[in-house]
Amino acid sequence: MIKGTTQLLGVIGDPITHSLSPIIHNTAIRHLGLDYAYVPFRVGGEDLSTAVAGLAAIGVVGFNVTIPHKQAIVPLLRDISPFAEGVGAVNTVWRQKDGWSGTNTDVEGFLAPLIDFIPTDTWRQRRVLVLGCGGAARSVVVGCSQLGCSSLVVFGRNKSKLEAFYGSWLNSPLKNTLSQVLSIHPWQQLMNYLPTVDLIVNTTPIGMHPISDTSPLGEQEMDLIASHAVVYDLIYTPSPTKLLRQAQLRGLVIIDGQEMLIHQGAAAFKIWTRQSPPIEVMRMALKTTITPQPV
Ligand code: NAP
Repeated sequence: MIKGTTQLLGVIGDPITHSLSPIIHNTAIRHLGLDYAYVPFRVGGEDLSTAVAGLAAIGVVGFNVTIPHKQAIVPLLRDISPFAEGVGAVNTVWRQKDGWSGTNTDVEGFLAPLIDFIPTDTWRQRRVLVLGCGGAARSVVVGCSQLGCSSLVVFGRNKSKLEAFYGSWLNSPLKNTLSQVLSIHPWQQLMNYLPTVDLIVNTTPIGMHPISDTSPLGEQEMDLIASHAVVYDLIYTPSPTKLLRQAQLRGLVIIDGQEMLIHQGAAAFKIWTRQSPPIEVMRMALKTTITPQPV
C-alpha cells in the first residue's frame, strides 16, 4: 500500500512500456514488506535533464536508467563509481544530499547467466561477436574482457558511432586489454565473421516489443553460425525473441535477457534499500509475467 511515508524508486527510458523492472522490484518490495514503490517514467532525450532535476525535487530515492539514456545521464550526475566510469554507462542512480550518484550493475547482470553456460576456464579461447555499440554493448565488452575472451568483434550500422565506441576505450582503464582483442566492423561484414565466433550477443533493440517480428540476423546469416555457438539476446520481452527462435530452430544454445534483468535489478535493489534482494521471488514474478513465445 502506498502511504504518506512511501519512498519512490523508478526507471527512466524511452520506450518504457515494455519494462518489467516495475514487476520485479515491486514484487521484491512487497515480499520484504518495505515501504517503497517503483514506477516507470517515459522520458525522451530532450527531457532528460529536466526529468533528472525533477526526480531530485520530488525526493525520489533512486532509479534505473534504460535505453537510450545510459551514457547521456553521466554528465547529469554528481559522481559515478570507478567501475561505471570504466564501462562508460550508468544504469543505477541513487540520491545523495547534494546530487545523484551512479553506477553500473549491467555487467554483473550480463555475466550471471553466461557463467552457467560457458565454463569460466575456457574463456581464453572464446571469440565473441557483439551486435550494436550503444550503452548495453559497453557492459558486454567489459564483461567479456573480464572473462578474458580472445577476441571481441563489435558490429554497428553507423560508422562514426562505431569509431566513437572504439575511441572511447582508449582512455579507459581497460585500454591495454581491449587494444589486444577489440575490433569494430560495419554491419555489411557480418557474413565474414559469423562462422568464426563462439558467442553472439545482440545488444540492439531489434526484435524488442512492440516490433517483435524482426531479427538482427536474416536466415542466410543464421545458417552461417557454428553449431557449438551460444546466442545471447539482451532483450527480455518478448521471450524468446525472433533471433532466439531462429537459433533454437538450428539447435543452438540460447540465453535471453531475463537473468540479466533479474541480476542487474537485484544489485540495484541492494544499493537503494540496503536489503538482500529476494532473487528467486523476483525470478518467479518475471516468469509468471512473460508468456513464452512458440518456437
Ligand atoms: P542504446 O544505447 O540505444 O544502443 C542500441 C544500439 O543498437 C545502438 O548501437 C544502435 O545503433 C543499435 N541499433 C538500434 N537499432 C538498430 C538497427 N535497426 N540496426 C542496427 N543497429 C541498431 O540501447 P541500450 O541501452 O544499449 O539497450 C539495447 C537493448 O538491450 C534494448 O533492447 C534493451 O532493452 C536491452 N537491454 C537489456 C538489459 C537486460 O537487463 N536484459 C539490460 C540492458 C539493455 P545507433 O546508435 O546507430 O542507433
